[in-house]
Amino acid sequence: MPELPELEALRIRLGPRLAGRLVTAAQVNPRLAHLLRYPPESFASELPFRRATAIWRRGKHLITEFALGGGGDPRHLVVNPMLGGRFQLADADSRPPAHWVFELRLEGGEALRYLDRATMGRVYWTAEIVRDVPGWSELGPEADAVAEMGLDAFRRRFRRYRDELKDLLRNQAFLAGIGNAYSDEILFEARLLPLRRRASVRPEEEETLYLTIPPVLQAAVAAILANPDYDPAKQDRSFMKVHGRGGQTCPRCGHRISQLGSGRGPGREPFNFCRGCQH
Ligand SMILES: [Zn+2]
Repeated sequence: MPELPELEALRIRLGPRLAGRLVTAAQVNPRLAHLLRYPPESFASELPFRRATAIWRRGKHLITEFALGGGGDPRHLVVNPMLGGRFQLADADSRPPAHWVFELRLEGGEALRYLDRATMGRVYWTAEIVRDVPGWSELGPEADAVAEMGLDAFRRRFRRYRDELKDLLRNQAFLAGIGNAYSDEILFEARLLPLRRRASVRPEEEETLYLTIPPVLQAAVAAILANPDYDPAKQDRSFMKVHGRGGQTCPRCGHRISQLGSGRGPGREPFNFCRGCQH
């Protein structure tokens, strides 16, 4: 599932290639049109002749702003890729993969495609994000920017919750952008067990967590972008220390990495941690 680092890398790589480009045609795959929270025919007729003006990210959403040549209010294409959504910027004449959701043809012969193998993503086309994207107004601060709120504000925010740490980190109202994979990596780095209750976390552990979140996410963005075979349609997690490594050896203490989670249903994805060095 793409989380903050994947979407941030995508924004950094795709942003400059999309900015200023004119959409010449738009198409929606009738088979996957239900992922669009907008009438597909209107989407296909409203996108052409608009120009991409800005690309930004909020939590696990990627937003592209489009303006009409003659002015008028910009509209936003908001994509929440959920489990299996990916983007592709390809030669417009290439054959789209079977699970393409929409395709925007761009001046210059390329096409921006949104692909979704898991068919769980959500696509919004809106002039008013807060009104049209559910949960938007409840999103917490960006997880990679907790340093900006300061330690005291972080503690106050953290202490509002009673959850286990794993659930707390994935709660988008607490911090936006973290999901199953990066909550594993952050808790590993902070040496905290995922099933610890928030109330059991000592003040010095709170500080460690506060100091750990941004560097883990920033290092992941750097690792994703450093991959010479970077492909926004694929997901590289080879740099992760515990996530996806159940049964392997902990890189810090040599203990065997544990795995829990049935994998059945949302919020129950398998997760990993080390009983040897996380407490
Ligand atoms: Zn360990």
